[in-house]
Amino acid sequence: MDNIPSTDNHIHVDPINGEGPLDVASKFHRSGGTSMIIPNKPTWTVSPECSFVEAMELVVKYADEINQETDVKAFAVVGAHPAELSRRVEAGMDLVQAEELMRGALEAAQNMVLEGRAVGIGEIGRPHYPVLPEEMEVHNHLMVYAMELAREADCPVQLHTESASEEQYQEFAEMARKAHLKEEKVIKHFSGPFILPEENHGITPSLIASGDVMREAVRKGKNFLMETDYLDDKTRPGAVMGPRTVPRRTRKLINAGLLTEEDAYHIHVEIPEKLYNVEMDL
Ligand SMILES: [Zn+2]
Repeated sequence: MDNIPSTDNHIHVDPINGEGPLDVASKFHRSGGTSMIIPNKPTWTVSPECSFVEAMELVVKYADEINQETDVKAFAVVGAHPAELSRRVEAGMDLVQAEELMRGALEAAQNMVLEGRAVGIGEIGRPHYPVLPEEMEVHNHLMVYAMELAREADCPVQLHTESASEEQYQEFAEMARKAHLKEEKVIKHFSGPFILPEENHGITPSLIASGDVMREAVRKGKNFLMETDYLDDKTRPGAVMGPRTVPRRTRKLINAGLLTEEDAYHIHVEIPEKLYNVEMDL
């Protein structure tokens, strides 16, 4: 069982508020983890003056550190979280100006993918909290714009949105078509067990690696990614699953006969390699 791969498709590392890249990667690796897909954290978690580019550069640096110092393969995903827009609007910035800033951030993210320093654009999306309709419209425009940039760079996007079910998946698939991005290149982060094509409309679900979600998911299919959304924030220790969860959950499912080793290879190597255009080098 020792050579079973595990990819956490959405895990954060944060040496400012948490333990940082090397500690998180070591815990992940000791539990059998092999690859981490790491989106940058929002600018305000770095410092009040932190720019979008600085926040994105930091996650690329953290992924480099993990690749150099540990046996875990790390990949950076860069983008501007929807709350970045909300925060600026709340602070009094004009909506048009805030949208311009977000567009610039997404373009910088695309550049980092084109340079081969990051493998996807994310997390991007729209708020999970209520906002005014005119703000929501801007978020929706930015989502399509990020998908257009992803299509040009031939990379996926990772979506952060309100909790989504079939109706939202259908909407995301329509956005992807509008942007001429393949639906599967749109990865819904923090997804429930929406595995069947009629449930996810071709969008790739990145499943929360809880026992309940996973047991329901594997009964329906094996076309998904797994994640913890670990925040690496000491002030919010119970907010999410720990960094050991994906490898442990994967082994549990195999031991229970709910997943085969071939399934694990598909979920943790073949699907991410194809979506992100990377090699896991296991
Ligand atoms: Zn996240």
